Amino acid sequence: MSSRRDRIRAKIMSRVRIDPVTGCWEWTGPDSGKNGRGKGYPRMSLDGQTVAVHIAMWTNEHGYIPGKKELDHACRNRLCVRPEKDHVEMVTRKENAKRREQAKRGMIGHNGGPRLECEEVLQ
Ligand SMILES: [Zn+2]
Repeated sequence: MSSRRDRIRAKIMSRVRIDPVTGCWEWTGPDSGKNGRGKGYPRMSLDGQTVAVHIAMWTNEHGYIPGKKELDHACRNRLCVRPEKDHVEMVTRKENAKRREQAKRGMIGHNGGPRLECEEVLQ
């Protein structure tokens, strides 16, 4: 005998690849496509509806998400569905926006920032 919760978890885990390096539970099923704002998020069909897998997994484990909260990929891997801290975390909208901004700034520094000069002098 298995509960609905167990069935949903089993259904999700049957299409997950666990990354031994990052610990991410990477979704190997369909995603939301390559274009647009919501691109690259895992999708599945549940009770005849298309849902985001990381959200379905999280609510299946932890329950309802209050209106002012949302889920953030702390591991920055959109295909990750692991419902635990450092992967898919529940944060406030404000916190999520702040994290996105920080990630963007990090990217700019990496790709478009000033070139590093080597200051070491050989004697
Ligand atoms: Zn992850």
